[in-house]
Amino acid sequence: MDKDFIGVWDRCLHIIKDNISHQKFKTWFEPIKPIKIEDHVLTIQVPSQFFYEWLEEHYINLLKKTIRQELGADGRLEYSIVMDSAFAGEDPLTINLPTSNKRSVKNDPVSMPLDLNKGNSKEIPNPFIIPGLKKLKIHSQLNDSYSFENFVEGDCNRLARSAGYAVANNPGKTAFNPLFIYSNTGLGKTHLAHAIGLQVKENFPDKTVLYLAAEQFIQQFVESVRNNTQNDFVHFYQMIDVLIIDDIQFLASKEKTQNVFFHIFNHLHQNGKQLVITSDKAPVELKGMETRLLSRFKWGLAADLQVPDIETRIAILEKKLYNDGITMPKDVVEYLAYCITTNIRELEGALISIMAQSSLNKKEITLDLAKQMIDKFVKNTSREISIDYIQKVVCDYFSLPIDQMNSKTRKREIVQARQLAMYFSKKHTKASLATIGLHCGNKDHATVLHACRTVNNLIETDKQFRIYVEELEKKIKI
Ligand code: ADP
Ligand code: MG
Repeated sequence: MDKDFIGVWDRCLHIIKDNISHQKFKTWFEPIKPIKIEDHVLTIQVPSQFFYEWLEEHYINLLKKTIRQELGADGRLEYSIVMDSAFAGEDPLTINLPTSNKRSVKNDPVSMPLDLNKGNSKEIPNPFIIPGLKKLKIHSQLNDSYSFENFVEGDCNRLARSAGYAVANNPGKTAFNPLFIYSNTGLGKTHLAHAIGLQVKENFPDKTVLYLAAEQFIQQFVESVRNNTQNDFVHFYQMIDVLIIDDIQFLASKEKTQNVFFHIFNHLHQNGKQLVITSDKAPVELKGMETRLLSRFKWGLAADLQVPDIETRIAILEKKLYNDGITMPKDVVEYLAYCITTNIRELEGALISIMAQSSLNKKEITLDLAKQMIDKFVKNTSREISIDYIQKVVCDYFSLPIDQMNSKTRKREIVQARQLAMYFSKKHTKASLATIGLHCGNKDHATVLHACRTVNNLIETDKQFRIYVEELEKKIKI
């Protein structure tokens, strides 16, 4: 037996490293352990069946070439798969597999401490304090668990993350002001926004940091108008060192709020204060926003968060499990990461869901359980249906321009389209009546309720209308 299997594998790793990205190397090659070399056959130990299959599917050529280079033309590779075992300390069970000959391996039971009572409801104190106090003390509204440490880096978020990090270490002093972070839902905007705030607080305890959702900003502004305290409102925001506003798209079509935000923005920017803004769209695609405000958004850096690749998805799940002190068979983690591709929130949801399933039904977490759950889960939520999406489907269906839907017009066909959008939004999203109203032409919750009733009545009484609804229903669900 050749004793230098470690050296041989090390040299293989060297070659492999030069041929793939760091992230991929970390996910798929660092966990591999060389075991032995016998008769030109190198045996490597991999953590799971899925892992083995993934290597075979994606890296077989690279592995082949590398092995041949090190062991000669008759060099071969054999896998040894670790069976998941809850009994740490025992030697891992292994099974040898020649390349390209897949066999299934059964998992052993795995124990799992669970805490399902961890709600994330959190009281958000009103950040208003009486202005004029010498030392401004406000509640930053930051969530400790959304830290940089918990934010897994990947190709999908590298630019935004490092810009965020730079800003947090030097608020107001980098070229990234404002830092504008945008992405689809569930890809980490809110997490990153909090991470920046937390890091600033750690680096500069004396700086005043405030995180808030744009909706809160709107509410507070409306209240200040009602109470005639607009000066206090503006004054309050002008005293902040790092202002982080999440989901700025909610300011769309709110001219007065945009106006006041514009002045706050200018004041802060001129005084070297940092602004961090998140949005579900790039600045150029934001509708209903004043041009002068949009041009400000482009002053700094606009960085997007993209859908994470499988390596990053696995790393995110592993981080979450580690933080919660939970163990789960590797196969299951990999399977979840493999199936749920476009939304990290859904990925985490699947994790929680499978833990709940297992704990409620006292079932072990196995690949089979994961598969059953994913079947249900992915079918129902593979794509989060948003109000915007519904509006688009409705407008396309009736060939109406989408900005008409959100205008004040009372034309019959527009009103009807708007009512349908409200009805479907109520049916297919978790948004409140007030939020739906806000998005559909800036109406109040009573209007949405009325729209839902009207649509229901028409479905009962008007045959043509019922056909519209049925066809739209199909389109929305595709
Ligand atoms: P968004 O604001 O873009 O809709 P969130 O910031 O709310 O998305 O992220 C959704 C979930 O995914 C959160 O629980 C967050 O912690 C998690 N998440 C997103 N990106 C990452 C990442 N890079 N590393 C770890 N967790 C992440
Ligand atoms: Mg968010």
